Amino acid sequence: MEPCADTKGSFNKLKFIFNNYFKAYALKHPTRVIGHIRDTVNKISFCRTEIRGGKLFACLKHKYGYIVPFSCGNRFCVTCSSSKTGVWIEKAIKTLTSLDTPYHFITFTVPSALSRIIQLNKGLLLSSFFKASSGCLLYWSKRRGFLPGMILIMQTSGDRLNYHVHIHLLITSGGLSLRGDRWIKCFHYPPKPILRSFKMLIYRALRRAFDDQSFEMPPEYAAYSSKKSFNRFLDSLWNLSWNLDISESLKTTKEILEYIARYLKKPPISNKRIIDFDDKFIRFRVKDREKRWRKTPYLMAMDYFLMCLFEHIPLPSLRMIRWYGLFSNRNKKQYMEVLQRLIPVMGGESDNDSIPLWRRRCKDIYGVDPLICPVCKKEMKLVAILNYMTMSESGLYSFEKVLLHLQLKSVN
Ligand SMILES: [Zn+2]
Ligand SMILES: [Zn+2]
Repeated sequence: MEPCADTKGSFNKLKFIFNNYFKAYALKHPTRVIGHIRDTVNKISFCRTEIRGGKLFACLKHKYGYIVPFSCGNRFCVTCSSSKTGVWIEKAIKTLTSLDTPYHFITFTVPSALSRIIQLNKGLLLSSFFKASSGCLLYWSKRRGFLPGMILIMQTSGDRLNYHVHIHLLITSGGLSLRGDRWIKCFHYPPKPILRSFKMLIYRALRRAFDDQSFEMPPEYAAYSSKKSFNRFLDSLWNLSWNLDISESLKTTKEILEYIARYLKKPPISNKRIIDFDDKFIRFRVKDREKRWRKTPYLMAMDYFLMCLFEHIPLPSLRMIRWYGLFSNRNKKQYMEVLQRLIPVMGGESDNDSIPLWRRRCKDIYGVDPLICPVCKKEMKLVAILNYMTMSESGLYSFEKVLLHLQLKSVN
């Protein structure tokens, strides 16, 4: 196996894998390559290529221009996910730090048998996992007389791309009293009653899903496919390894930022973890429990790698990050107005909000604003949206050729 040509990180390895091996995979497993999987692969394969087109910014007077190719914006695209994550983190941090309160970091995990059932019934059960995780905390807080603010982030992938569904969440240490007249502090969320009510909500969702016509039981649990045996099966799981980790409260914005950045909008495998690959095999780094969690190379057949990876492409209708309570999209504005009178609330638009992240990064790294004309120092204007034909006929990134092409077109 040849090592990857570029280990500096600029070479998008997943894109290369999709471009070169997806066709063979799709031919071999036609029933597995369903709509949203093909869409995602196509988006990433054509990310920042002439097929997607781009925007042309220019100062026509001084003949300076800058072409911004359209990106795919997909979470699985290692090129796009970092910039999307950057923008998203900025917004999330703004919401989370708008309230002057510490946060608790909580992780919900279900036993592996249930993870497998959820994997086969994503459409029926993933949303219920969100509802159970937020519901048990909202229920507990409500009984103590307050409404907290929460962000929930669902992840489905384990280190070896196995299906391991879990939710990370940040919750305010306290919340707005139910009467809406004061802030109630709470520095302790007790795991026992919260986990118990989480389990009950998950079981309720599982029993309801079982009655649905499309519910599918994994072949290894075929013995539990009658209603009675399914209930017995659930009873046997009650005392297994359910995990609920609740951290001590987090104090600073920096700590919140670090937690969020680690879990947010990242693809299940990063460019950095992939060591090398060919059409048959791929090697990537995993944390090895037996070697004190040190990272060691892990070999997988390419076919199986793609199969595992595609399991983690989210269904198009499913949002994997959700806000609840004080931060719920529907009520956030109204709650913030009330909270403004009770505790310090920060807000307001900053100057940076209107400038896209790629442009700010370019300025930070190279010290040059790519959209300022070097002669007149004025901001370049958007002069054309370039489609596939313009980009491919004139040559990607060649400003002179694009201008020539557009002029020729307009003369004709
Ligand atoms: Zn992309
Ligand atoms: Zn100019």
